[in-house]
Amino acid sequence: MRVTVLGTRGSVPVSGKEFEEFGGATSCYLVEAGAQSIILDAGTGIIRAPRSFETPPSILLSHLHFDHLMGLGMYGRLSMPGAETRLLAAQGKHTVLEAMRRLYSPPLWPVSPTEYAGNLVVERLPSTSTIGDVLVECVEGNHPGGCSVIKLTHRGKVLVYATDYEFEPASFERLVAFARGVDLILFEAQYEDAELHLYQGFGHSSARIGLDLMKRANAGRMLLVHHDPRSDDETLRKRERSLGRADVRFAREGEVVVL
Ligand SMILES: [Zn+2]
Ligand SMILES: [Zn+2]
Repeated sequence: MRVTVLGTRGSVPVSGKEFEEFGGATSCYLVEAGAQSIILDAGTGIIRAPRSFETPPSILLSHLHFDHLMGLGMYGRLSMPGAETRLLAAQGKHTVLEAMRRLYSPPLWPVSPTEYAGNLVVERLPSTSTIGDVLVECVEGNHPGGCSVIKLTHRGKVLVYATDYEFEPASFERLVAFARGVDLILFEAQYEDAELHLYQGFGHSSARIGLDLMKRANAGRMLLVHHDPRSDDETLRKRERSLGRADVRFAREGEVVVL
C-alpha cells in the first residue's frame, strides 16, 4: 500500500510561509493498493488528488464535519462527464446527502456535487466490506457527532486511520484492539498535552495519546495528523523533535509512505 498525504490540517485550511513544510490543506489521504484507489476524507487536500484512475476511486469519509468534506466541491474528477466516484460514510447515504445538501446549496454554494457532470455514487459504509481486494473495517471512535476509525488491509499490510478522536477509556480499549499489530496508524494529535484540559469535549487528542495507542497496540509506525490551524512549522517541528522517535512523525503534506 502506498499512502500519499494530500492534506493534514484540522478544522480549517491555512496558508502562508509558516505552514509550507507541514501544509495547510485539510484532511485527505490517497491510499493506492494494487488496482484500487481509496481516498480517506474529502478535505481541501482532495483538490490535488488525481482525476483519472485504473478503477473508479472510493472516497471514505470518517465523518461529516466540514473540514473533512469541504474539498469535494472543487475535486476535478466530479466534473468529468460520466466518471464514477463512490462516496461512503458510516453515517449512511441519507445523512451524507443531507449534509451535502446543507453545505453545497445556495446561498453557500451554487450546486450540489451530486449534480456535477461526473457520476457520484453515495453509499453507506458498512462496518466490514471490501473494495476490490482491500478489506475495509470500521469502528466508532469518540468525537462529537461520531467518527469512524477506518482500517484498510491489503496483501498482509494494514493501516488504521484514526482522526478526530478524543480519549475516553472504553473507546480507547476498542482502538487498541482494532489497531493490534498494524503497520501504520494515522492518528490525530491536534493539541498539545498541556492544553488538552482546555478543550475537553472538542473531540481531539495529543501525541502522547497516540504514543500510548501505538505502544498498547504494538503498531509499527505512526503519522500524527489533523494539525491545529495555529500550529506553524516551527511548532510542529519542535513537537516532533521532543518525541525523539524515528517511527513517529507529524505528517507533511505531499509525503508518501509505502507499506
Ligand atoms: Zn476534523
Ligand atoms: Zn470532526
